[in-house]
Amino acid sequence: MILMYHHVCRDHEVPQDARPIEGWEYRLSPEQLDHQLQKLRRGGWKFVSLQEYVAALALPFRRRSRLVAVTFDDGWLDNYEHAVPVLESQSIPATIFVVSGEIAGVAVDRRMNSEQLLNLHRHGIEIGSHTRTHPNLGMLSREQIVDELVNSRAELQQLTGHAVDFLAYPGGRFNQCVVETAAEAGYAGACSVIGFARNSPESRYWLYRDVFTNAMNTVTDWLRRQRCFRSLRQQRARARVQELLRQTPTEGLTET
Ligand SMILES: [Zn+2]
Repeated sequence: MILMYHHVCRDHEVPQDARPIEGWEYRLSPEQLDHQLQKLRRGGWKFVSLQEYVAALALPFRRRSRLVAVTFDDGWLDNYEHAVPVLESQSIPATIFVVSGEIAGVAVDRRMNSEQLLNLHRHGIEIGSHTRTHPNLGMLSREQIVDELVNSRAELQQLTGHAVDFLAYPGGRFNQCVVETAAEAGYAGACSVIGFARNSPESRYWLYRDVFTNAMNTVTDWLRRQRCFRSLRQQRARARVQELLRQTPTEGLTET
């Protein structure tokens, strides 16, 4: 299982001029994040880096069924202020997907700046690419997709001095061309926002991710942690992937 998070902050920290595109509705408090991670650990889940998680996909499922990787999208400053201390206190590795053209100081001040990004490595956190400008990749030409995927990777690698091996599709949008370009650009895998399914070597370029409710106490939250139920939901997730892969840029345009 791969966990997907966005903002980690308290309600009063949501900016007055928050824009819908910034996704503040996907937020949980530092205490809720701490609680979720502890609950999973107590339930027998083992936290690994995304790298280790993807490498383990080659193993038989029973040997990797309780592995969990933690990811955050967008590179928000609140991740640095609130999520990193929680992760560090529990010695949990994580990946933060950063928009290379929206690093604070360059463009948006609610994101981490380059100094903070450089510090992450020391805390066991790796940086992944979330493209250069956070576009709907499903609507772009091949040339634009190459620019977003190849150049964001190069920019982030140059900034951090570390390999950038993973990508997360903005808004979870992708198609066949996006997937092929991600592989050609050298990414070892890419994350979607489709959830509730079992990852396999086949899903390497649309890795399924899970989101729990903040208190992690609903029936659905419980079902997400059950092996059999996750397998039962496979078909639905696969159908969604096939639908996305088939889309051409124009169809993407009409869909959203
Ligand atoms: Zn995003």
